[in-house]
Amino acid sequence: MITADLHTHSGFSTDSDEPLEEMVKAAKEKGLQALCITEHMDMDYPGGEFILNTENYRKELFRVREQTPDIELLFGVELGLMDYLAPKLNEYSKAWDFDFIIGSSHLVDGQDPYYPEYFQKLGSKNGILRYFESILANIKAMDCFDVYGHLDYVVRYSPEKSYDPVDYREIIDEILRLLIEKGKGIEINTAGLKSGIGYVHPHVFILQRYKELGGEIVTVGSDAHDKSRVAADLDKAQAALTAAGFTYYAIFRERKPNFVVI
Ligand SMILES: [Zn+2]
Ligand SMILES: [Zn+2]
Repeated sequence: MITADLHTHSGFSTDSDEPLEEMVKAAKEKGLQALCITEHMDMDYPGGEFILNTENYRKELFRVREQTPDIELLFGVELGLMDYLAPKLNEYSKAWDFDFIIGSSHLVDGQDPYYPEYFQKLGSKNGILRYFESILANIKAMDCFDVYGHLDYVVRYSPEKSYDPVDYREIIDEILRLLIEKGKGIEINTAGLKSGIGYVHPHVFILQRYKELGGEIVTVGSDAHDKSRVAADLDKAQAALTAAGFTYYAIFRERKPNFVVI
């Protein structure tokens, strides 16, 4: 059974109102042994919307950690990656004592695919392809993350809300090979189920390819932005992990993976 949720947000993220303490309480109630808060830090989001007050966030996390010794509370961040930000992101990642850093793509060429203009302009096929291309460029440009977040998340905003990963096999393999070469992991993110795409991110095909190519580091996260979604659908993440042939998942502490048998 999976008892660690490694991707969650609280009120220090621009798109969440939930007090950090409430997230931890919910995690305890749901029987988790470990919870990592991974607040958003997107340095160049239009309008500066997702700049994290890391100092206040860290202070509150350490306060709550002291109060709740019966659950392991980890200090994480979800960094919005863009290749040209590499020097700034590197510097930021070294300035704080994070346990875990998820690198994610929330913007492609400065545009958020969440808004319909992205796919209107590019079409389904190219919109998805361009997303993968930008991921590859990000991985080439930097090492300041531990796992790549929700690898195919762009699909949930595509007109069809689905895709066949086999159509993107070459670029997916290139991404996975480079991640493995750099010692980086991927995550299973269960938020796709909530958004209606019907499976976890990434598609089990990608998980299988990661394993086949020699990848070993997989974390699991709900991407909860409120207490009700903490630990949501971890059973489905487990099913995906097992289907891909994994018998363990990873928990990061002080930026190092620790493997836990399912
Ligand atoms: Zn994200
Ligand atoms: Zn997130």
